[in-house]
Amino acid sequence: MKGKIIILSAPSGTGKSTIISRIINDPELHLGFSISATSRAPRGQEQHGCEYYFISNEEFKQRAEAGEFVEWEEVYPGTCYGTLKSEVERVTSSGLNLIMDIDVKGGVNVKKCYGDQALSIFILPPSLEELERRLRGRATDDDATIAKRLGKAEYEIGFADAYDCKVVNDDIDKASANVAALIKSFIAKTETGN
Ligand code: 5GP
Repeated sequence: MKGKIIILSAPSGTGKSTIISRIINDPELHLGFSISATSRAPRGQEQHGCEYYFISNEEFKQRAEAGEFVEWEEVYPGTCYGTLKSEVERVTSSGLNLIMDIDVKGGVNVKKCYGDQALSIFILPPSLEELERRLRGRATDDDATIAKRLGKAEYEIGFADAYDCKVVNDDIDKASANVAALIKSFIAKTETGN
């Protein structure tokens, strides 16, 4: 049996990574995380083959030209992220459902590519004001960076209607449970062929 594709996108600071970490080991969901390739450098404790496959810009370009990616985007100027076809195959061929943490353009493209075999979920902040409060609470960014992130978030939220479902993260427990429930019903539906 081949696994399905679950696409999760959200503006930065919306809690997407936390939601993924909460549901990834849910035994009813049979999820496997899609390890993307990126040309950015590892941060902190990140390791090659764990959070990402870290490759150089040159290697990224070569592999893109060779058609090795399902999709790829220059998410930040000069920094590319993409999903390798080999990664989709590695996870889905083992029967696991592939969960992808990807940006809005990538999410829309993957959904187009896999159609009914994919479920796309967009995580929304309760409001832009709340997102700003959360970004300030992290205390990692200066005012200019926060303004840039908020501008990007507004742009990204414009893609939300292109997703199959939207989940507002006003409470991390509830949002994680909602995402898990959506995935469960999608898996049940596709298994029975309805
Ligand atoms: P970060 O560098 O903070 O880990 O990720 C930056 C952004 O890149 C996030 O919005 C994440 O969803 C996106 N991203 C990660 N992997 C992929 C991918 O394979 N394809 C696309 N299009 N975006 C990705």
